[in-house]
Formats: sequence, structure tokens, C-alpha cells
Amino acid sequence: MHRLQFNFHMELIDTHCHLYAPEFAEDIDKMMQRALTAGVIRFYLPAIDMESEKDMLDLEKRYPDICFAMQGLHPCSVKNDVKEALRHVEESLARRKFSAVGEIGLDFYWDRSFEKEQYSAFHQQIEWALKFDLPIVIHSRDSIDQTISVVREHQNGNLRGIFHCFNEGEKQANEIIALGFYLGIGGTLTYKNSKLPAALKNIGLENIVLETDAPYLPPVPFRGKRNESSFIIYIAEKMAEIKGISPEEVSMITTSNALKIFS
Ligand SMILES: [Zn+2]
Repeated sequence: MHRLQFNFHMELIDTHCHLYAPEFAEDIDKMMQRALTAGVIRFYLPAIDMESEKDMLDLEKRYPDICFAMQGLHPCSVKNDVKEALRHVEESLARRKFSAVGEIGLDFYWDRSFEKEQYSAFHQQIEWALKFDLPIVIHSRDSIDQTISVVREHQNGNLRGIFHCFNEGEKQANEIIALGFYLGIGGTLTYKNSKLPAALKNIGLENIVLETDAPYLPPVPFRGKRNESSFIIYIAEKMAEIKGISPEEVSMITTSNALKIFS
């Protein structure tokens, strides 16, 4: 396997990784070690649903002060039991401190049968983020313009967060930035036919954070394999190439952005 040689030191933050997924059950400690060696200093764990919550909280306990759980109901998990699931999110947010409300949003790619419920769950969870003064981490698929509209409705100057796995055009990037939000950029940046490099050409790094979305969406050269947090260096490297700066500069700026969002 081809490996880039990095002879500099970077501190990176993986702002979106599902490291509690069953894909890591066998080798979680080794995987974490590789990520720490690569310079990843913090890992933000987005919530999906009640079923996967225990594994997420267990991982956070196993790696205190470097793994940070979020709380929220993923749009793809908005089903018939949405009421109960949301009640659980609200109670959890009231009970302890989470790093963010996420991942929340709209996903019209997989299934539109719960579209109405997806909207109300999204609205509701944004309200809780404002109430508990937490950032939101947004998932949007085949729904970027609708998602931006919902966020705009709630933006009272206090709402902040990330459009995770941003993979749209420059127009949407600018709308998101105008809302005071950050673009979460992951492995799709490295894909051969990606339109992201062009979309981000005029977008300042002060609006960008990095993420892997592990175990999904591995960057080149790992496509088809399991993604993991250490691979974030390939995303930083690609970003450096696009911006014509060093990977160290990319890591410095994006890491400081992430700390600002989650502080
Ligand atoms: Zn995710």
C-alpha cells in the first residue's frame, strides 16, 4: 500500500468520526494509536440513534479528553419511533454536557417517506442546541438548499456549527459561510472527479474544518477500504495542494477553527 511520508508535525482534529462503529470493534486501540501518531489530537463522535449510543459513550469513557460524544438523532434514523427518540435526545442533553447536537439534518437520498418528520426533528433539535448553547453538526444529502433554509430560519446570531461532509458548489459554500457556519471537508476532496477542489478554490480556510467520517468515505488511496482517523492527513495534504500552502498551515488553521466551534 502506498503511504505518504510526512516528515513534519501536525496537530489535527477529526471533527466527525464514527469510531464506535462495529467496524472498529476488533482493533480500536491500535486504530487510535495510529491516529494519535499521525497527529490527531481530538475526535468528535456524532450520535446516530439510541441503539448505537452505548457504544459511543463507552468509547468516550475509554478515551476521556480526546473523544467527545455528540447527542442527536440522525435524519436517516427518523422513523415511526421519532417521538420517543427525540424525547431521549432532549433528556440526555439536559442530563450532561455534550460536544454538539448532531448529527442532525435532512436526507432525501435514501428515503423520503419520513420527510415531514425529518423536518420537525431538525427544527426541534436546532432549538435544543440554542437552548443548551451547543454547536450543531449537520448531515445533508440531496437536500442542501432545504437544509440551508432551515438553518437560516433559526439563525439569531447564536447558532453555530458545521455542515458535515460538504460536497456541493461554491454558491452553497458561500451561503453556509454567510450563516456563520463551517464546511466539514472529508475524503471526497481527494476523489478523482470531485468538484470540491473547484468549489473551494475561493473559499478561505478560516471557514473549513477537516473530518474523516470514518469508517465511511475513505480518501484516496484507501477507497474501498475501511476509513480511519489517521487517514485525515491525506485530506490535509490534498487541501494544502489545492490552497498552495503547507499541510502544517492547513492543520494549524483547521484545528483552531475546530477548537473554536466546540469550545
Ligand atoms: Zn456521520
